[in-house]
Amino acid sequence: NLILAIETSCDETSAAVIKDGKEICSNIVASQIKSHMRFGGVVPEIASRHHVEQITQCIEEAMKEANVTYEGLSGVAVTEGPGLVGALLIGVNAAKAIAFAHQLPLIPVNHMAGHIYANRLIEPLTFPLLALVVSGGHTELVYMEKDGDYQIIGETRDDASGEAYDKVGRVLGLTYPGGKRIDEMAKMGSDTFHFPRGMIKENNYDFSFSGLKSAFINTVHNAEQKGETLNQFDLAASFQASVIDVLVSKTLKAIREYPVKQLVLAGGVAANHGLRAELTNRMNQEFPSIRLSIPPLSLCGDNAAMIGAAAYVEFNSGNFSGYDLNAKPGLSFEMMK
Ligand code: ATP
Ligand code: MG
Ligand code: FE
Repeated sequence: NLILAIETSCDETSAAVIKDGKEICSNIVASQIKSHMRFGGVVPEIASRHHVEQITQCIEEAMKEANVTYEGLSGVAVTEGPGLVGALLIGVNAAKAIAFAHQLPLIPVNHMAGHIYANRLIEPLTFPLLALVVSGGHTELVYMEKDGDYQIIGETRDDASGEAYDKVGRVLGLTYPGGKRIDEMAKMGSDTFHFPRGMIKENNYDFSFSGLKSAFINTVHNAEQKGETLNQFDLAASFQASVIDVLVSKTLKAIREYPVKQLVLAGGVAANHGLRAELTNRMNQEFPSIRLSIPPLSLCGDNAAMIGAAAYVEFNSGNFSGYDLNAKPGLSFEMMK
């Protein structure tokens, strides 16, 4: 089985060829970050235009690097949502055109399922599993009894974790997206501010990062008004400590209460060094028999390889789409049932 996968949900144009849902034959990622940086966030119109410019070359490169022909493909997969509608449409239309021209099955894929299945590109998945999905637009705990089964047992009530990182980064004057830089700065500071840990004691699996964000902003503004300068590294470390504390606490709580055989970390924030280290430590201490899977940095951010991995599951279930496939900007796991 060889699937050509296309991802254009946000600001990465990507195409990949995946063998049997687990082997990367190619994974071409063209990032647009530089074009959005000066605006302090992703500008949807600019994203769409870049996707149009990049998509054909990405696909050609992915096919060439994988050394396959269109006749040799089993299907064409594409992210149908969630994401920016104009960005998604570029990928959806490219996938439709290829599927039609070469009479291949068209496989629609949920971007968040892709983030989770990035882990199958590293090692086999053992069910039931728990996924801690942390990205720019999502923060959720997903319980899966089998392939393609997604039960959201908890999610953020306000900001996503990546979003909180980026907003706090902005307050510190960092270029967008600030997540990675705050992670680096956190290594050089310590948790001296003791920011609140949102919802950490509540008896559920939900998250909230807006209180932390406000506490951070107030601390910085109060200091500015008094003409004081705060240690930026300690600020970053304190923010990161709160985020990690909450994410890891709620994840371990879920592992205690669900018959989980494997824990997988997923999404752009899975690249966070502090989170990777803390999750690894706590799992080794408290659940040494439960396998922990963390994607390599190259598979944490958006890429088409993960879409190809998730598409293989849909392919095996015969979940194909007609040429009327549309972008679904607000797609959620709940809508897939
Ligand atoms: P979604 O997947 O929810 O649709 P998205 O695709 O825009 O959103 P991703 O590409 O999965 O999001 O992740 C991007 C986010 O990850 C950004 O918010 C970015 O700041 C954050 N991020 C990347 N590296 C790190 C890091 N090392 N530490 C913290 N956050 C990080
Ligand atoms: Mg991105
Ligand atoms: Fe993403």
